[in-house]
Parts: sequence; C-alpha cells; structure tokens
Amino acid sequence: RIVYVNGDYLPEEEAKVSIFDRGFLFADGVYEVTSVLGGKLIDFDGHKTRLQRSLNELDMPVPEAMDDLLEIHRALVEKNEITDGLIYLQITRGAPADRDFAFPSADVKPTLVLFTQSKPGLAESPQAKTGIKVISIEDIRWGRRDIKTVQLLYPSMGKMMAKKAGAEDAWMVEDGLVTEGSSNNAYIVKGNKIITRHLGTEILHGITRAAVLRFAREAQMEVEERGFSIDEAKNADEAFITSASAFVMPVVNVDGVAIGDGTPGPIAARLREIYLDEMRKAAI
Ligand code: PMP
Repeated sequence: RIVYVNGDYLPEEEAKVSIFDRGFLFADGVYEVTSVLGGKLIDFDGHKTRLQRSLNELDMPVPEAMDDLLEIHRALVEKNEITDGLIYLQITRGAPADRDFAFPSADVKPTLVLFTQSKPGLAESPQAKTGIKVISIEDIRWGRRDIKTVQLLYPSMGKMMAKKAGAEDAWMVEDGLVTEGSSNNAYIVKGNKIITRHLGTEILHGITRAAVLRFAREAQMEVEERGFSIDEAKNADEAFITSASAFVMPVVNVDGVAIGDGTPGPIAARLREIYLDEMRKAAI
C-alpha cells in the first residue's frame, strides 16, 4: 500500500512520524474519512470544509498541501487501485523538539498523513439487509464533539462494550437523550417523522447527516432535529445511523428490544437508496 506523509508518497513500511508528534503524545490532531465508490470520492467538498473548520476551532496551522488535498486523494485512489473503500486523512499539530503542553511555535509544521483502505462491495454490505443492534452507554466524552479530533478512546471502548453485549454499536446518552453513535449519527422514525439530534457542540456534524436530511426533505419526509431518549427509540417504528463509511444503516434492536418488527424499516431503506444514487452521481 502507498501512503502519503508530508508531501511524499511512500510504501507504508517506509512512512515514519516522530515520537514527539503531538498527535501521538496529546491526541492533538483532527481527521476525516471519505468513502470511495467506483473509484470516485463521495462528498469530498463536505469533508474538506469540515476539516478546515476543525483546524480553525483548534487554532491548528493549515498544512501547505491544503489546496492539493483533492489531487492527493485521487493519487492514492489510483496508486492503490481503490474501486470501493475509504481514504483516511489526519492532521496533527506536528513534532516539536520536545514534549510540552503549550502549543509549539509557528516554525513547527503540522503533520499530514493519508492512507487508503480497500473495501470491495462497500455499498453492498450485507448488514444493510439485516440491520445492526446497538446498546446504550453513558456519553462521557469531552464537550467539543463538533470538532473531529483523534481522541477516539471512549468510542473504541463503546464499540468493545457493544461487542461484548452481542451488538454492533453503542449509542451514547447524555442527560437522558441520545447524542450519537460511537462513530455515526443516530436517528429514529415515528410515523413519517425522522427524528435526529439537533446540531451543537454535543455531536459531530455528520457530512452524511447533512446530505441525508437534505434528501429526506426533498422527498417530502418530515424531519425533526431534537434529542430523543432510549425509551422513545425502543417505541419507534424504525431506527438507523449514518456515516461516511456506513452510509445509511438500519438499526433493528436497541438494548435488546426489537425496533418495529425487528427488521430494517422502509424509510431507512429508501434513504439509503436515494443517498447512494445521488452521491454516486455527484462523486468526483
Ligand atoms: N459522529 C461521530 C462521533 C463520528 O465519529 C462520525 C464519523 N466519523 C459521525 C458522527 C458521522 O459523520 P460522517 O457522516 O461525516 O462520517
């Protein structure tokens, strides 16, 4: 696999980052994951815009290659012959000469790393037909979840708790209301109404969420952006999640309780179809 590190395309074995890199020592970094379908990038502009916002919010310097990101994504797709898969991008505050809590001076350049993950048949995941099970856990993450940082230890623990409970993911709950999934935004459907948490600092502003809500409104579906409880989810007709890698994925069970008849619902299925159709058309 060929990866990108600070201007160079290298075999992954040859790619190196300093042990003093602030991403490594302080989780001082941000990332994006963009999916590739049919060799093309899905919603590249959405991911780039959010990346710029994450950098701004953390006063992180912008890498020199910021204007070349599309070209770098495309080069990696080509070099690694990716038809369906993911491109992971990470920017950290770089590698100062020594460890220090204070941000380094301006001469320390950020570290930009990209790599690909090949996922043949990414959009034909069998899970989309069966749906996934989720458990609920307390949301104990920091308060700026709208910034896409690499601080992913608690979401990793959440996935492990889910796995242990025989489920695929964990929905995080704060003050009695679901914030989001461990790596996705969470939705329920009651009647014809799609309910998902409003934007704020409590959740990541999903790029997929924005597109799916736009398509839902264009299809005359009703959308309500507000928090919902696990009890409300258990009594919903449908549930689903969205993310750049899962697209729209039905949720059929919450904390051991079947949602609706325990199979993927029609609204989630329709939104998945519309999302994939439209985003493939707009892919670059
Ligand atoms: N919330 C969290 C916590 C996430 O990690 C992700 C995916 N990185 C999402 C939501 C979904 O965002 P997107 O649709 O941009 O992938």
